[in-house]
Amino acid sequence: MNKEQAKQRIAELIKEINYHNRRYYVLDKPLISDAHYDVLYRELVKLEKLYSDLILPDSPSKRVGDKVSGDFKKVEHDKRRMSLEDAFSVSELKEFEDRIKKLTNKNFNYVCELKIDGLQIVLTYKKGLLVTAATRGDGRIGEDVTHSVKTIRDIPLKLSKPIDVVVSGEIYISKKDFAKINQDQISQGELIYANPRNLAAGTVRQLDPKVVSARNLKSFVYDIEGDILTGTQLEIFKVLTGLGFSVNSDNKLCKNLDEVLGFIRKWDGSQGKLLYETDGVVIKINELSIRNLLGATAKSPRWAIAYKFPAEQKGTKILDIEVQVGRQGTLTPVAILKPVRLAGSTVNRATLHNEDEIRRKDVRVGDTVIVQKAGDVIPEVVSVVKSKRPKTSKSFIMPSSCPICGGKIIKKPGEVAHRCSNIQCFVVQLRKLEHFVSRKAFNIDGLGTKIVEQLYKEGLIKDYADLFTLEEGDIKPLERFAEKSSVNLIKSIEESKDINLDRFIYALGILHIGDQTARDIVKVFNTWDKFVNASQNKLESIDGIGEKVAVSIVEFLNDKNNQLVINRLFKNGVKVKSYSKTISDRLAGQTFVLTGTLTSISREEIEVKIRELGGKTSSSVSKNTDYVVVGDNPGSKYDKAKQLGVKIITELELEQLL
Ligand code: NAD
Repeated sequence: MNKEQAKQRIAELIKEINYHNRRYYVLDKPLISDAHYDVLYRELVKLEKLYSDLILPDSPSKRVGDKVSGDFKKVEHDKRRMSLEDAFSVSELKEFEDRIKKLTNKNFNYVCELKIDGLQIVLTYKKGLLVTAATRGDGRIGEDVTHSVKTIRDIPLKLSKPIDVVVSGEIYISKKDFAKINQDQISQGELIYANPRNLAAGTVRQLDPKVVSARNLKSFVYDIEGDILTGTQLEIFKVLTGLGFSVNSDNKLCKNLDEVLGFIRKWDGSQGKLLYETDGVVIKINELSIRNLLGATAKSPRWAIAYKFPAEQKGTKILDIEVQVGRQGTLTPVAILKPVRLAGSTVNRATLHNEDEIRRKDVRVGDTVIVQKAGDVIPEVVSVVKSKRPKTSKSFIMPSSCPICGGKIIKKPGEVAHRCSNIQCFVVQLRKLEHFVSRKAFNIDGLGTKIVEQLYKEGLIKDYADLFTLEEGDIKPLERFAEKSSVNLIKSIEESKDINLDRFIYALGILHIGDQTARDIVKVFNTWDKFVNASQNKLESIDGIGEKVAVSIVEFLNDKNNQLVINRLFKNGVKVKSYSKTISDRLAGQTFVLTGTLTSISREEIEVKIRELGGKTSSSVSKNTDYVVVGDNPGSKYDKAKQLGVKIITELELEQLL
């Protein structure tokens, strides 16, 4: 890369990193994984090192965080609050040590602390009383979040001594509480939080202290300054504990780099054992006198470094590249992967972000690529294994018209994103998906509007046939979808695959075809084959179907794109049950759950009967269940039904209903 190219790339990187900084620090809504962000950031730092005269004043490498939002009172910090330099390899840690040894010839020790995935908090105490709690903000100015922080139970409001001190540490949320809150968000049809840090930061910024209190935030502190005498980090921990703060008991003194590496080895891969999320190890010099000698750069102290645990990576093949259309009409290319196990689950899609990214990484269909899941957003392609590129590999070409609505694709100068010019496009597609999973159609439990929107926005589904290719691992990493909910969702999708013909026709979302019309149709054309081959005239002969409706059906079925999606539905395992005269639709749309031992009839027989009448049986109780049928010795489903207020009926009552 020559200097002119470097200049251009630096400008692009600054623009992109600043955009993501705002999403992450101010809005708490990151769009890319931390690992992806770190790649961009390191590329910038590398170029700035090569061409120091190209460093721009607004470079994120010279700033901490981002400007604070205007919603809070601002707090000016007593001293600059810093970020930490990152290290991703042992050699970078060795360089860190060499630098220190060059600057000071004194002996020193290290202290290793787990890097908590939370947000930094600065607590000011006057005469032992908490007066202000502020976020780090841009390092100089933070946000006043005292009202929220006062509800956090392990942060003392009053210290055991009446002293003036400033304490700093990390506020975090436990993995369990994080999963529980996201579960609640799901059941309320709300969007889920991307990661524990975003949830903790968003919670602290809540205006209602009751909400903060209910979220059960916690803290670990690691620094204190003011009316107190300390000479080492270990003494700081001791003082903080004595004053009533929570200090992480896993922190450890390490006499040399080997011991530091031992600490890293111990925790890398064992994070699962912890009750909270950690993304690395913070390594600090223990002796404060040496820290003072070393000082700081514009952004971070020279006496500390954050080693980041690597995200798990695997190699797999790109089978195809599809384009997904987002809410603002943004086109996101998504790699369809040969399914691969990654960090405990199978994934078959990975975001490629945008065309520039594809060009930069030179990703092609047929390539073997390295994918990673950094634990917070959907998996991404890190790099291409060029040595394994087949001759038949195909470059990606951004479509010139929208794959959903056919609208013109535009790219504004200076923007990375391609967009569909039809502003309705995203909404139309989303509505189709919502209709497809709705109660009278595929009736997929646990797939509410918000979740469909999220799956669509993240590129996991682009049309309804994709629903049936989802794997647990595709959903689970998505903004930390709780483990159980992803298992349940995949199960519900699986269970919905056997569907009655009328529901299937209704689900396709053909213009003018409501559920009643679909039922009228299947009484005349009782199999899918008969329906697809029906002529306009024949369709018009059905009671209640006029020319307009018949034309709509014929046009829909003749459309090449519709044919492709329908064929993919079948390929992905959807089985349409022919209409049989004995079947009625009396229980259409109603879901039954059976629990306990039934005495007069077998479970299988009852399930067949329910299905014959248009009803559905499910193995788990949710708020969408209509009836729970209780036999002898019912299990936990009975308690769940009572808890959710679902109607409970006996075997006899069911027989009457049938
Ligand atoms: P950082 O996360 O690399 O490290 C500094 C922070 O670590 C400190 O401010 C402190 O809050 C925290 N910390 C946790 N445990 C600590 C301990 N024991 N001792 C001291 N500090 C501790 O730096 P940052 O400036 O907060 O954030 C930068 C990182 O944030 C990036 O590397 C990236 O991973 C992430 N980020 C992601 C996006 C995105 O879009 N995904 C955007 C911006 C930043």
